[in-house]
Amino acid sequence: MAVLSEGRAAVYEEPLGPAGVRIRDRARTDVSPGTVAIAIRAASINHLDLFLAQGLQRDVKPPRVIAADGAGLVQASGDPAWRPGDEVVVYPVVCDWECEWCRAGENVRCPHFGVIGEHSDGTACELLHVDARSVFAKPKALSWTEAAAFPLTFLTAWRMLTTRARLRAGEKVLVVGAGAGVAVAAIRIARHLGARVFATSRSEAKRRKALELGAEAVFDSTEFSRPVRQATGGGVDVVFEHVGPATLAESMRSVVMGGRVVTCGSTSGAKAEIMMARLFWGQMDLLGSTMGNAGEFRAVLRAMDDGLRPVVDSIYPLGEVQAALQRLDAAEQFGKVVLSV
Ligand SMILES: [Zn+2]
Repeated sequence: MAVLSEGRAAVYEEPLGPAGVRIRDRARTDVSPGTVAIAIRAASINHLDLFLAQGLQRDVKPPRVIAADGAGLVQASGDPAWRPGDEVVVYPVVCDWECEWCRAGENVRCPHFGVIGEHSDGTACELLHVDARSVFAKPKALSWTEAAAFPLTFLTAWRMLTTRARLRAGEKVLVVGAGAGVAVAAIRIARHLGARVFATSRSEAKRRKALELGAEAVFDSTEFSRPVRQATGGGVDVVFEHVGPATLAESMRSVVMGGRVVTCGSTSGAKAEIMMARLFWGQMDLLGSTMGNAGEFRAVLRAMDDGLRPVVDSIYPLGEVQAALQRLDAAEQFGKVVLSV
């Protein structure tokens, strides 16, 4: 079912970077059966939105309302599961909910799988119409800002660390590029699961913040594998990757025999070379992952009820979406950049 963004909305119109995203007013419509209309209170942006605004997602044609993450109040519901006034968050995935994979709980394998705000309209708007199956109760302890800050990054990092890398309490995990939203989520989740966390960043300020979040030791982003092996007594069990060519070789040098390297992205380029012997001689698992299933989203929500929290970097009014995108573009953020609606 199509996602619709209505009312004031941040719309990607031209591939100019942040300047190509403008506030427009869209007509409001009645809710359709099976769909919920949510008065968005907060949305948050991801690097994806910046790629989109830069025209790098060539299969996405403007105009497109941006953002995957949103939280708000049900305004009208075409499904008996929800009533006006319910406080909700949106599962940030586009899927058809009907195919055999979706029915088996494997939304990530749906032929219509995508990201809200990339493969459909997005959450950076006043009123979002979305399939009722994509709507979940907002964790009570979270503020609106926090509720909009966690969905995509925590879903992604949760699947990477639990389903894919099988991280267990007491194991050591290295999170590279620690300032990115997904990496901050990984630090928080790994600590929540009782793992020992290590982190890398080019930025001294971000390394310090990673320590505040519970990392035991932090490292500069260049040639980190030797100091990581020294600090961890031979290497980590899991490396959490999202940077790609700039760090992958060092990440693969940082794991113990039988270690796992799990990645959800490649922000430093599309192609990487790897040392094949390190992969097979090291009994290594090199794992790919994208976002996650609705069941994994429910697991994140339960973890939020148990005290897991996102990290909010900054909050901008919806009307200042260009400044919010510029903050991501400058790579100065630590945690999530949120739009209040
Ligand atoms: Zn499906």
